[in-house]
Amino acid sequence: MPRTVRAAGVMGGTFNPIHNGHLVTAEEALSAFSLDEVIFVPAGHPWQKEDAGVAPAEDRYLMTVIATASNPAFRVSRIEIDRPGPTYTVDTLRALRAELGEGCDLWFITGADGILNILTWKDPEAVLREARFIAATRPGYDLDRLEKELPAGLEDRVKVMEVPALAISSTDVRLRVREGRPIRYLVPEGVARYIEKTDLYREDSPST
Ligand code: ATP
Ligand code: MG
Repeated sequence: MPRTVRAAGVMGGTFNPIHNGHLVTAEEALSAFSLDEVIFVPAGHPWQKEDAGVAPAEDRYLMTVIATASNPAFRVSRIEIDRPGPTYTVDTLRALRAELGEGCDLWFITGADGILNILTWKDPEAVLREARFIAATRPGYDLDRLEKELPAGLEDRVKVMEVPALAISSTDVRLRVREGRPIRYLVPEGVARYIEKTDLYREDSPST
Protein backbone atom coordinates (compact mmCIF):
# COMPACT_ATOMS: atom_id res chain seq x y z
CA MET A 1 0.00 0.00 0.00
CA PRO A 2 1.39 3.42 -0.90
CA ARG A 3 1.80 5.72 2.09
CA THR A 4 -0.75 8.48 2.52
CA VAL A 5 0.41 11.83 1.24
CA ARG A 6 -1.23 14.63 3.17
CA ALA A 7 0.72 17.51 1.70
CA ALA A 8 2.59 17.50 -1.58
CA GLY A 9 4.71 20.10 -3.31
CA VAL A 10 4.59 20.31 -7.09
CA MET A 11 7.57 21.80 -8.85
CA GLY A 12 6.95 22.42 -12.52
CA GLY A 13 9.66 23.54 -14.88
CA THR A 14 11.39 23.02 -18.16
CA PHE A 15 14.37 21.58 -16.26
CA ASN A 16 16.63 22.27 -19.22
CA PRO A 17 18.62 21.16 -17.24
CA ILE A 18 17.60 20.75 -13.58
CA HIS A 19 20.10 22.52 -11.30
CA ASN A 20 20.89 22.93 -7.60
CA GLY A 21 18.66 26.04 -7.35
CA HIS A 22 15.63 23.83 -8.10
CA LEU A 23 16.78 21.20 -5.60
CA VAL A 24 17.55 23.62 -2.75
CA THR A 25 14.16 25.27 -3.28
CA ALA A 26 12.30 21.94 -3.22
CA GLU A 27 14.11 20.78 -0.09
CA GLU A 28 13.42 24.08 1.68
CA ALA A 29 9.70 23.85 0.80
CA LEU A 30 9.60 20.25 2.05
CA SER A 31 10.95 21.34 5.41
CA ALA A 32 9.31 24.77 5.82
CA PHE A 33 5.81 23.52 4.87
CA SER A 34 6.11 20.00 6.36
CA LEU A 35 5.39 18.38 3.00
CA ASP A 36 5.39 14.60 2.60
CA GLU A 37 6.86 14.77 -0.87
CA VAL A 38 7.82 17.05 -3.73
CA ILE A 39 6.80 15.99 -7.22
CA PHE A 40 8.94 17.38 -10.05
CA VAL A 41 6.97 17.80 -13.27
CA PRO A 42 9.13 18.42 -16.33
CA ALA A 43 7.25 20.25 -19.06
CA GLY A 44 6.47 18.47 -22.30
CA HIS A 45 8.23 19.60 -25.42
CA PRO A 46 7.25 23.24 -25.93
CA TRP A 47 6.53 22.74 -29.61
CA GLN A 48 4.85 26.14 -29.85
CA LYS A 49 8.30 27.66 -29.35
CA GLU A 50 9.77 25.56 -32.20
CA ASP A 51 13.00 24.14 -30.86
CA ALA A 52 14.20 27.26 -29.07
CA GLY A 53 17.13 25.46 -27.46
CA VAL A 54 15.03 23.04 -25.46
CA ALA A 55 16.54 19.58 -25.05
CA PRO A 56 14.33 16.57 -25.87
CA ALA A 57 11.73 15.86 -23.16
CA GLU A 58 13.19 12.41 -22.49
CA ASP A 59 16.64 13.88 -21.72
CA ARG A 60 15.16 16.52 -19.41
CA TYR A 61 13.08 13.84 -17.69
CA LEU A 62 16.08 11.54 -17.18
CA MET A 63 18.24 14.35 -15.79
CA THR A 64 15.43 15.19 -13.35
CA VAL A 65 15.26 11.55 -12.24
CA ILE A 66 19.05 11.38 -11.83
CA ALA A 67 19.07 14.61 -9.78
CA THR A 68 16.26 13.56 -7.43
CA ALA A 69 16.88 9.80 -7.10
CA SER A 70 18.80 9.98 -3.82
CA ASN A 71 16.09 11.95 -1.99
CA PRO A 72 13.32 9.65 -0.70
CA ALA A 73 10.88 12.59 -0.55
CA PHE A 74 11.38 13.59 -4.19
CA ARG A 75 9.78 11.96 -7.21
CA VAL A 76 9.30 12.81 -10.87
CA SER A 77 6.03 12.72 -12.78
CA ARG A 78 5.79 12.07 -16.53
CA ILE A 79 2.34 13.59 -16.66
CA GLU A 80 3.21 16.58 -18.87
CA ILE A 81 5.76 14.68 -20.94
CA ASP A 82 3.30 11.94 -21.86
CA ARG A 83 0.47 14.30 -22.71
CA PRO A 84 0.41 15.40 -26.34
CA GLY A 85 0.08 19.06 -27.20
CA PRO A 86 0.44 22.03 -24.86
CA THR A 87 -0.14 21.49 -21.17
CA TYR A 88 -1.69 23.87 -18.71
CA THR A 89 -0.69 23.95 -15.07
CA VAL A 90 -4.32 23.80 -14.03
CA ASP A 91 -4.78 20.45 -15.84
CA THR A 92 -1.62 19.06 -14.26
CA LEU A 93 -2.79 20.10 -10.80
CA ARG A 94 -6.20 18.51 -11.39
CA ALA A 95 -4.60 15.25 -12.53
CA LEU A 96 -2.32 15.17 -9.47
CA ARG A 97 -5.28 15.93 -7.23
CA ALA A 98 -7.15 12.96 -8.75
CA GLU A 99 -4.11 10.76 -8.07
CA LEU A 100 -3.49 11.96 -4.50
CA GLY A 101 -7.11 12.34 -3.36
CA GLU A 102 -9.16 15.19 -1.96
CA GLY A 103 -7.52 15.01 1.45
CA CYS A 104 -4.12 16.07 0.15
CA ASP A 105 -2.94 19.68 0.32
CA LEU A 106 -1.31 20.68 -2.96
CA TRP A 107 1.39 23.34 -3.02
CA PHE A 108 2.76 24.59 -6.32
CA ILE A 109 6.35 25.72 -5.84
CA THR A 110 7.74 28.42 -8.11
CA GLY A 111 10.39 31.10 -8.14
CA ALA A 112 9.12 34.61 -7.49
CA ASP A 113 9.44 35.34 -11.22
CA GLY A 114 7.23 32.35 -11.96
CA ILE A 115 4.47 33.50 -9.65
CA LEU A 116 4.22 36.82 -11.45
CA ASN A 117 3.70 34.87 -14.67
CA ILE A 118 0.71 33.08 -13.14
CA LEU A 119 -1.06 36.37 -13.06
CA THR A 120 -0.88 36.55 -16.83
CA TRP A 121 -2.16 32.99 -17.30
CA LYS A 122 -5.53 32.46 -18.86
CA ASP A 123 -7.38 31.93 -15.60
CA PRO A 124 -5.23 32.72 -12.53
CA GLU A 125 -8.18 32.32 -10.15
CA ALA A 126 -8.75 28.74 -11.35
CA VAL A 127 -5.08 27.84 -10.84
CA LEU A 128 -4.99 29.47 -7.41
CA ARG A 129 -8.07 27.48 -6.40
CA GLU A 130 -6.50 24.15 -7.42
CA ALA A 131 -3.40 24.63 -5.29
CA ARG A 132 -1.80 27.02 -2.90
CA PHE A 133 1.46 28.53 -4.04
CA ILE A 134 4.90 28.80 -2.51
CA ALA A 135 6.82 31.67 -4.06
CA ALA A 136 10.55 31.22 -3.50
CA THR A 137 12.43 34.47 -3.22
CA ARG A 138 15.93 35.49 -2.46
CA PRO A 139 16.52 37.55 0.67
CA GLY A 140 15.63 41.18 -0.04
CA TYR A 141 13.40 40.47 -3.04
CA ASP A 142 10.67 43.09 -3.37
CA LEU A 143 7.27 41.43 -3.03
CA ASP A 144 5.11 44.53 -3.08
CA ARG A 145 4.32 44.11 -6.73
CA LEU A 146 3.21 40.52 -6.22
CA GLU A 147 0.92 41.43 -3.35
CA LYS A 148 -0.68 44.21 -5.41
CA GLU A 149 -1.32 41.97 -8.41
CA LEU A 150 -2.88 38.95 -6.70
CA PRO A 151 -6.61 38.55 -7.39
CA ALA A 152 -8.67 39.97 -4.53
CA GLY A 153 -9.63 37.36 -1.97
CA LEU A 154 -6.97 34.90 -3.07
CA GLU A 155 -3.98 36.58 -1.39
CA ASP A 156 -3.94 33.90 1.30
CA ARG A 157 -3.36 31.24 -1.39
CA VAL A 158 0.22 32.42 -1.86
CA LYS A 159 2.97 32.01 0.72
CA VAL A 160 6.42 33.46 0.37
CA MET A 161 9.50 31.43 1.25
CA GLU A 162 13.02 32.77 1.37
CA VAL A 163 15.71 30.54 -0.06
CA PRO A 164 19.43 31.22 0.15
CA ALA A 165 20.58 33.40 -2.72
CA LEU A 166 21.27 30.99 -5.53
CA ALA A 167 22.13 32.77 -8.73
CA ILE A 168 21.83 29.57 -10.71
CA SER A 169 19.72 29.32 -13.85
CA SER A 170 19.40 26.70 -16.56
CA THR A 171 20.20 29.42 -19.10
CA ASP A 172 23.56 30.04 -17.43
CA VAL A 173 24.28 26.29 -17.18
CA ARG A 174 23.63 25.88 -20.94
CA LEU A 175 25.85 28.86 -21.74
CA ARG A 176 28.63 27.43 -19.62
CA VAL A 177 28.44 24.06 -21.39
CA ARG A 178 28.55 25.80 -24.76
CA GLU A 179 31.60 27.82 -23.72
CA GLY A 180 33.37 24.91 -22.05
CA ARG A 181 33.20 26.51 -18.59
CA PRO A 182 32.52 24.42 -15.45
CA ILE A 183 29.05 23.43 -14.26
CA ARG A 184 30.35 21.36 -11.36
CA TYR A 185 28.58 22.29 -8.07
CA LEU A 186 25.85 24.10 -10.04
CA VAL A 187 24.17 20.84 -11.05
CA PRO A 188 24.35 17.41 -9.39
CA GLU A 189 27.35 15.35 -10.45
CA GLY A 190 25.16 12.82 -12.29
CA VAL A 191 23.50 15.57 -14.32
CA ALA A 192 26.90 16.97 -15.36
CA ARG A 193 27.97 13.46 -16.42
CA TYR A 194 24.75 12.97 -18.39
CA ILE A 195 25.21 16.27 -20.25
CA GLU A 196 28.80 15.29 -21.06
CA LYS A 197 27.86 11.81 -22.22
CA THR A 198 25.01 12.95 -24.47
CA ASP A 199 26.67 16.14 -25.80
CA LEU A 200 23.63 18.19 -24.77
CA TYR A 201 23.92 21.99 -25.03
CA ARG A 202 27.10 21.89 -27.09
CA GLU A 203 27.40 24.39 -29.90
CA ASP A 204 27.14 21.75 -32.59
CA SER A 205 24.28 19.81 -31.00
CA PRO A 206 20.74 20.39 -32.31
CA SER A 207 19.31 21.30 -28.90
CA THR A 208 21.62 24.15 -27.95
P1 ATP B 1 15.76 29.04 -17.69
O1 ATP B 1 17.01 29.80 -17.35
O2 ATP B 1 15.90 28.18 -18.92
O3 ATP B 1 14.53 29.90 -17.71
P2 ATP B 1 15.33 28.20 -14.96
O4 ATP B 1 16.65 28.08 -14.27
O5 ATP B 1 14.51 29.43 -14.69
O6 ATP B 1 15.54 27.98 -16.53
P3 ATP B 1 12.98 26.55 -15.01
O7 ATP B 1 12.93 25.13 -15.41
O8 ATP B 1 12.46 27.59 -15.96
O9 ATP B 1 14.51 26.90 -14.65
O10 ATP B 1 12.36 26.79 -13.57
C1 ATP B 1 11.45 25.95 -12.93
C2 ATP B 1 11.01 26.61 -11.63
O11 ATP B 1 12.14 26.81 -10.75
C3 ATP B 1 10.42 28.01 -11.82
O12 ATP B 1 9.36 28.15 -10.91
C4 ATP B 1 11.56 28.94 -11.45
O13 ATP B 1 11.07 30.19 -10.97
C5 ATP B 1 12.27 28.17 -10.36
N1 ATP B 1 13.71 28.47 -10.28
C6 ATP B 1 14.61 28.51 -11.27
N2 ATP B 1 15.85 28.79 -10.83
C7 ATP B 1 15.75 28.96 -9.48
C8 ATP B 1 16.70 29.28 -8.43
N3 ATP B 1 17.99 29.48 -8.68
N4 ATP B 1 16.23 29.36 -7.18
C9 ATP B 1 14.90 29.16 -6.93
N5 ATP B 1 13.96 28.85 -7.85
C10 ATP B 1 14.37 28.74 -9.13
MG1 MG C 1 13.00 30.19 -16.03
